[in-house]
Amino acid sequence: MKILVINTGSSSIKYKLFSIDNNTVLAYGNLEKIGESDRGRHTHVVLSGTSENESVQYNPILNHTEGLNTIVSLLTDPETGVIRDVSEIDAVGHRVVHGAETFWEPTIINDQVLDAIRENIPLAPLHNPANILGIEVARKIFPSASQVAVFDTAFHHSIPPKAYLYALPYELYSSLKIRRYGFHGTSHHFVAEETARLLNKPLSDLNLITIHLGNGGSMTAIEKGKRVDTSMGMTPLEGLIMGTRSGDIDPSIPYFLVENSSMSIAEINTLLNKQSGLKGICDLNDMRDIMTAAKKGDERAQTALEMYTYRIKKYIGAYLAVLGEVDAIIFTAGIGEHAPEIRAQVCKGLEKLGIVLDKAKNKSGANKSREIQTDVSPIRIFIIPTDEELKIARETLGLIQ
Ligand code: ADP
Repeated sequence: MKILVINTGSSSIKYKLFSIDNNTVLAYGNLEKIGESDRGRHTHVVLSGTSENESVQYNPILNHTEGLNTIVSLLTDPETGVIRDVSEIDAVGHRVVHGAETFWEPTIINDQVLDAIRENIPLAPLHNPANILGIEVARKIFPSASQVAVFDTAFHHSIPPKAYLYALPYELYSSLKIRRYGFHGTSHHFVAEETARLLNKPLSDLNLITIHLGNGGSMTAIEKGKRVDTSMGMTPLEGLIMGTRSGDIDPSIPYFLVENSSMSIAEINTLLNKQSGLKGICDLNDMRDIMTAAKKGDERAQTALEMYTYRIKKYIGAYLAVLGEVDAIIFTAGIGEHAPEIRAQVCKGLEKLGIVLDKAKNKSGANKSREIQTDVSPIRIFIIPTDEELKIARETLGLIQ
């Protein structure tokens, strides 16, 4: 059985083709800059045994239909392809960012489901339209495959009202569905399950704090396997400081800006989502660049790093209090997996709270799941490479079987 996982953005399509029977990835890739007349970029990797063969093409990619057709021609190429025909693909699993209160489970897509995802566009105006486009194109190109939507918000369905309601007039929740939803659900779920596997315990026995640090960032408190709180909110703007997103700020600031600057509400929205966070503080949003600049003595970059790790530490403190007892904290995603300096800075000073990092283990080790606490640390500290596509493939398989 073969499952293609697709993550469609407004100008990109990431994909991974799984052969589920023998548990392997056949190919994966990323199309970027779709619709930008002369700047398309398509990275395609074919896996065979232990070898990886990467090709990169720079051709304009007119739109998502052309993009997905290009992917299909590479997958079915008579010489380098991994399947003969699109009919070999049994299911397509789509990442859909916002399921709102309509979807708490992976769902087989039909016209009604697509309409309902469309109705949720106001809650995720940057993401859901692109996800819908990916679904529409995939339904045409893979007519015989089941199409499944896996929602980023779904993992957080067990969060109780005391954590998901905002202290606004209740009417705004009942009529407009303004509430915390949480995101990065597939990643938090994947690393939580992986931790349970490594600890050889059921997830339902574990209290965990999962820390996803990529371009976006979020944390989740998990009590006996159930999510009880998460840092992102109604949109992916709330919570941690991110590459270009502010995370938590005083909610009066947008009002203040409207009153005291020439910015419109739309401009303020862009400011908070695209020009804030690490970028807002030091003009850089890629963590590698920021760490290099900080090492060279750039004070703004140093401040940005201090703010970034301080915010994560605050959330760890909050979630330790929420959970009372914690078995493990887990770092994942680009920064969480690859930046020992950030992990060290986050854990520094938390020793008396039971989080004792082993400096040598933190710095060394292959890019695979591992533990980095000392032998005396009551709370275990894991690095677990996230694999959202694999999680989506598993959810898709579970549904179509
Ligand atoms: P996305 O959230 O878009 O999926 P990733 O999870 O890949 O992105 O995370 C991207 C972030 O990870 C970037 O800030 C990048 O600089 C950072 N990152 C990747 N590799 C490293 C590394 N070796 N050291 C520090 N940061 C890294």
